[in-house]
Order: sequence, then C-alpha cells, then structure tokens
Amino acid sequence: MTTSPTTAPETAVLDGTALARALRAEVTASAAALATTGITPRLAVVVATDDGSSAWYVRSIAGSAARCGVTCDVEDLGAGAAPERIRAALERLSADPAVHGIVLQTPLPPGADFDDLARSIHPDKDVDGANPLSLGNLAAGRPAHPPATAAAVLELLDHHGVELAGRDCAVVGRSTVVGKPVAHLLLRRNATVTICHRHTADLARHTRAAEVLVVAVGRPGLITDRHVAAGCTVVDVGTNPTPDGGLVGDVDAAAVTGRVAGLTPVPGGVGPVTTALLLRHTTSAAGAAARRPT
Ligand code: NAP
Repeated sequence: MTTSPTTAPETAVLDGTALARALRAEVTASAAALATTGITPRLAVVVATDDGSSAWYVRSIAGSAARCGVTCDVEDLGAGAAPERIRAALERLSADPAVHGIVLQTPLPPGADFDDLARSIHPDKDVDGANPLSLGNLAAGRPAHPPATAAAVLELLDHHGVELAGRDCAVVGRSTVVGKPVAHLLLRRNATVTICHRHTADLARHTRAAEVLVVAVGRPGLITDRHVAAGCTVVDVGTNPTPDGGLVGDVDAAAVTGRVAGLTPVPGGVGPVTTALLLRHTTSAAGAAARRPT
C-alpha cells in the first residue's frame, strides 16, 4: 500500500486475525514436518504472578500452541517467587534439550529485575527476544529473535503492503520489548526512524511528520487526529483494559478514522499476530536446534 501525506483517504482496517490464522497454519505445517523427524517443538512459559491479564495471555498462548502441534509447558512458580527461583528455572530450561523456546512472563514479583533474569534465557531459545543479548544482536544486524510483538508490527505492515524503505517512520514508546526493537526492525528495512518518549518536547510535531506511525505506550487516546498526517499508516500496539472488560489501544480510532490510510484495530490487530509469531519463533528454534551439530 502506497500512502501519500497529502490526501485524505478512506481508512483501511489493518486486521490481524486473518493474518494470525495464516501464520498458525504455517506453524502447524512446520510442526508436522518436525514431527516426522521425531521432534515436537516445545515452548516453556515461566510465570511468577497471579495477574489476571497475564493468565489470560498465557492461556491464549497454550491454546494456540496445542492447536498448532507445539507443546506448551507453563512453569507456574507462584506469585512472589524469589528471583533466584525464577533464575534457576530459566537456567534449567535453557539446558534442557527438549525445550526449544522460553518465555519469561510479566509482571514479575517486586524485587525481580526482568532484564537481569532474562539474561538466563539461552539466546538460541529466546523466542520472545527478552535477553538483552537478543536486542544487541538485533541492533547490530546479527541473527536474533525479535520480541514477538515487535515482529508482529512488521508482519502486519508487510501483510498489508505498506512500503518501508525510504519512508519516514515514528515510533512512540522506547521499551525494550516493543519500541526499541520495532525501531531497529524498521531501520533494518531502510526506513528513517524517529523514536518518541515521555521527554519528547513536541510529540505531535514528530508524529505528524511520519508516513508510518507505531504507537506502543499504554495510554488510551494519546494519539488523536492532531497527531497524524492525512494518509499516514498507524499501528496501534497499546492494549488498555476498559472498565467494562473491553480493550482499547493508544490511538483514538474514531478521531483518526477518515484521516489516516490504515489503522490496526484493538483488539484484533497486533495481539493475535504476536501469539502466532511466538509459535513461529518456537518451531524455527526447534528446526535450528535439530540442524545444530551435537
Ligand atoms: P512500557 O514499558 O510502559 O513503555 C511505555 C513507553 O511509552 C515508554 O518508553 C514511555 O516513555 C512512553 N510514554 C509514556 N507516556 C508517554 C507520552 N505521554 N508520550 C510519549 N511517550 C510516552 O510499555 P510497553 O511494554 O512497551 O507496552 C506499551 C503498550 O503496548 C501497553 O499498552 C502494552 O499493554 C502494549 N503491549 C501489547 C502487546 C501485544 O501483543 N498487543 C505486547 C506488549 C505490549 P519513557 O521511556 O520516557 O518512560
């Protein structure tokens, strides 16, 4: 899709559910091919929280995995597990040849440092790009699994035919799980990238200059019509629970619709693609492990 900042087009809904379905079919085929060689792709999810949203997300990963022929083990260490217990679990799973992918679920108990603990995930099994080494490799242009959410942003843009090379892109948010890896992935694709955060002096000035805008903040309604150029493509990564049990993104969808060329819905945009890509990273890690000399 080629967008022009000077026109006010119809806004396309950049749906992620059909893409996620196609990705799961691809994962199912990869898992079946691995099964003929005696390998069952196995993902381990380490949990140390009783947070409801986290439990919902883990159930959704486990359900998708089961449907795709990927084994998903949930290692529930209990809310308040000591950091050393979490580290020991990550080290044990990293050393286990039957495990191909490891996810450290957030939030973690108080006193547990995500970046520090994620260093105990072996980079070959770091299917959600949590180990700081993975982000370093991504920044250096070396092979690495990006975090599944960051990969989902690029997968959605590609699927919907949004060109990136030479385009002006802005990323709002600079977390290590979304904002920074998205920026590096866009850079890899020869986009010109601006990263915005809480200290950005004039957010709208930067976002309005973008032909492709990725928002990963966690503040409902942060991005309105005054933040977007006509014809821009917008990926809304934000997931903010509403009092009635729903979910909204960071972009005021009603305000920007009719002005932007395309917008990902929330829910049904980045979320389902993220889960499918986590499974794709796991089957790809299982395939790489099988090819590695012992
Ligand atoms: P995070 O770690 O809290 O980072 C938020 C980022 O937003 C920070 O870099 C922060 O800037 C920036 N920010 C906060 N307020 C801002 C403002 N007013 N203007 C500009 N920047 C601002 O969050 P995250 O983990 O990246 O997640 C972001 C959102 O994505 C959340 O809603 C989360 O639920 C969602 N998410 C969705 C998926 C999915 O699969 N769909 C996966 C992961 C996350 P500073 O660095 O300056 O503090």
